[in-house]
Parts: sequence; structure tokens; C-alpha cells
Amino acid sequence: MQSLIRRISRFAARHFAKSWLPFHAPRGVVSFSFDDVPLSACEQGAAILEKHGVRGTFFVCGGLTDQTEQGQQCHSEDILRQLHLAGHELGCHTFSHTHCERADRDQIQADLLRNQDFFKRLQLPLSGFAFPFGAYSFASKLLAKAHFGYARITGNRTMFDGADVYALPAMALYEGRMTPQTLQALIQDVAKRKGWLIFYTHEVTHQPGQWGATPELLGFCIAEAISAGCEVKTIRDAILYFEQARRS
Ligand SMILES: [Zn+2]
Repeated sequence: MQSLIRRISRFAARHFAKSWLPFHAPRGVVSFSFDDVPLSACEQGAAILEKHGVRGTFFVCGGLTDQTEQGQQCHSEDILRQLHLAGHELGCHTFSHTHCERADRDQIQADLLRNQDFFKRLQLPLSGFAFPFGAYSFASKLLAKAHFGYARITGNRTMFDGADVYALPAMALYEGRMTPQTLQALIQDVAKRKGWLIFYTHEVTHQPGQWGATPELLGFCIAEAISAGCEVKTIRDAILYFEQARRS
């Protein structure tokens, strides 16, 4: 019974409560996002983006501040302030990395508020949301809509023609998952068809685990996006870019 309810909720989450954003912008967009967030993403990841003159989006769980996760040292409060001052976007990833498909509405709501309080205490703005594990239900999608400007999932897809702002798919940027040729082809396709590709990863180190990237891999994708003629924008700014194009 539980699994049937979950399946219905998943179906409803995919097909209802949509906020459709059409893409009619002059260029394609590539965004880079980091989940949880390991300290190395805030340091090396941010530095590589800045070296190319662009910025990224960091989806933070306040419950991971000063903790280690999968053997990775996580962010500190100070580094979150630095990211904001350097022009990066900070987003919510729940406080406790909650699986939003399995948790009930009240649990999710409490965990979202806890993360919002964490950001309020740091006096840092919070714009969007990324579902931990990319897992969402109809109820959690509605909650995301009530609290945030957008929500990102996983899904390993690029977006063409338009997207549901509360279920934005993203592509894993993990070491060894795709060849440079495949990544290059994906990015060139986004440039040609004026779509949107959101990457997500975790740590950025020379020896990443299975959910991280090397500085070289991240740098390669940023350079490819720029040379293909894509805009590289935070998720928040990419939405503004497509919204402006829709109005003009
Ligand atoms: Zn996560």
C-alpha cells in the first residue's frame, strides 16, 4: 500500500503543480551546482568558477556545517559567507539531508524551516532548493513551491524548449562517468539548441570519491561551455535570463 501511495505521489509530482518556463533566450545556458556541500567545493570549486569569471550554486544542508560526510570535510559558516560575498548563489538542501519522497509533509516542513533559520542566523539569502537524492513527492514539491523560487532534482537530463521550474533536472558531474567527448557533445548541443544544462557534483578534489569531480573535470566543462558560446549562470540567474527573454 505504502509503495502504491508513493508511486501515485511520484506520478502527481511529475505531472502536476508545474511552473513551465519556456526557453527563448539568444544563447544556451550551463549552470554548475554543488550539493551538501563539501569544503573543497566551496574552495577549489568556487575558485575554478571565479577564474573563468563565472559563479555557481551551492545547495547547503545546515546540519552538515563543520561535519564530515563520506570522508569529506564539509563547509563552515565562514566559507558560506565568503561564497555569498563572491557572488555565488546559496540554496537550500534541507537541514538534515532529508529524503523528501519518504518523509511526511510535517517532517519536511520542519526540516526546511530549520535550514531557513540557519541561514537567517547567518544573515544569508536563500533562493532555491535542491531535493536531496533528487527524491521528491507531490507534497514536497508543493512545499518547495511555497518556500522557494525553484527546485532542482537530478535525472541526468539536459533541458530543451523549456522546463518545470519546480523539477529542474540536473546532470551528475562525477569523475569517470562520461568521457570528455561526451561532455563536449552535450554542451555543444545545449549551445546549438539554446537549451539549459545544470551540472551537479559534491567534492572537488584531485582524488574524488564516486560522487565528486576533479578540478580538471570541472575546469574542462566550464571552459567548454564558454567556448561553445553558452552563458554560464547560477540557477537563479539562469531563470531570470529565460524570464527576461520571454518578456522581450
Ligand atoms: Zn545531497
